[in-house]
Amino acid sequence: MNAPRDPTGFLGEEVRALVAQDLDWKIRVLDGPSVPRCTIDGRKVLMLCSNNYLGLSTHPRVVEAAANAARTHGAGSGSVRPIAGTMDLHVELERRLARFKGAEASLVYQSGFATNAGLLPQLVGEGDLVVSDELNHGSIIDGLRLSRAERAVYRHGDADDLGRVLAEAERKAPAPRRVLVVTDGVFSMDGDIAPLPAIARLAREHGAMVYVDDAHGEGVLGEGGRGIVSHFHLGREEVQAEMGTFSKAFGVVGGHVSGSRALIDFAFNKSRTWLLSGSHPPAVAAACLAAVEVLEREPEHVARLWTRTRRFQKEMRELGFDLGATATPITPVMVGDSSAAKKMSERLFDLGVFALPIVFPMVAKGKARIRTILNAALTDDDLTEAIAAFRTVGRELRLI
Ligand SMILES: *Cc1c(COP(=O)(O)O)cnc(C)c1O
Repeated sequence: MNAPRDPTGFLGEEVRALVAQDLDWKIRVLDGPSVPRCTIDGRKVLMLCSNNYLGLSTHPRVVEAAANAARTHGAGSGSVRPIAGTMDLHVELERRLARFKGAEASLVYQSGFATNAGLLPQLVGEGDLVVSDELNHGSIIDGLRLSRAERAVYRHGDADDLGRVLAEAERKAPAPRRVLVVTDGVFSMDGDIAPLPAIARLAREHGAMVYVDDAHGEGVLGEGGRGIVSHFHLGREEVQAEMGTFSKAFGVVGGHVSGSRALIDFAFNKSRTWLLSGSHPPAVAAACLAAVEVLEREPEHVARLWTRTRRFQKEMRELGFDLGATATPITPVMVGDSSAAKKMSERLFDLGVFALPIVFPMVAKGKARIRTILNAALTDDDLTEAIAAFRTVGRELRLI
């Protein structure tokens, strides 16, 4: 008889294969809060790659709200939302978020991922068509994999190509029952913005719905950080589902979608992630609520984020760095070769700047970069120091 084979042997094998290709994740650990001057793996460094754009994760009102809610409501919610896990804090958060977004209603999920994975496969199913930007976030891709709808992809940010795909779908027999267009608002690897007005116009012409994932646009774009729909002054009837997250500029965790009352009633009755997974702890709901209030009352954080962004991008370009197509605080510093990007990130860390390399397969081969993300809480001195480190390392690696 053969020796019984080890049913878990693949675990080590697959990880070793990743390590051999240098594709495994090496996790850095923050000792303390995510702030511009932070401690990572025991070293004091400048944080230049967090999604906490506005520094709200440590805003006193947000922290206080979380601590208070834990005291008044406990550590956990006790259930899923539809059974016994909806507390006054969850309801109030949704009411305030809808007001902030200027939408009829909003629904909060456990995360942005859970929103895309729960709602997208309900919006389209068998006999339907979904058309997706080729660079959409992985949570959109996974959400669409859970749907039986036919999938089509259009070239990144290319409204003409989207028009072509929609026109082709119309000529097919039988024509799709429902059509959905899905796009990131801000693309997380390049920092460019989706051409949402053109997308919305095409969708209207073809009778399609529009779903925008504004994870990186909230707190960044639009009036007082209201996001991409506000940025382009689009109407609610033009972008039917505006999805977002509390884990980025809002500084906490959680996903959400805003739109018509009909959309929200549909979403909570149908999204399996919402129906079948526990709701946010009270501290999370209260912190998210406080973060929305802070953004309403203190729009200066958004203005400061843009001041920092403009200075960093201007001086980096003057030094000769290629920042790609960015139009937002996400600022890729193009390197090209994967191993050079990894080396650059390590050298930056030596010099006290924390910014991770983004390499294949996250971006195309030859498009490796250091992805920096600006932050409202960075001081002018912080930026001077960060830019000096980039100048040193950029010269060492002959990028500039
Ligand atoms: C971060 C991100 C998500 C996931 O949001 P979480 O709330 O962190 O799960 C979804 N979509 C996009 C475009 C993102 O950048």
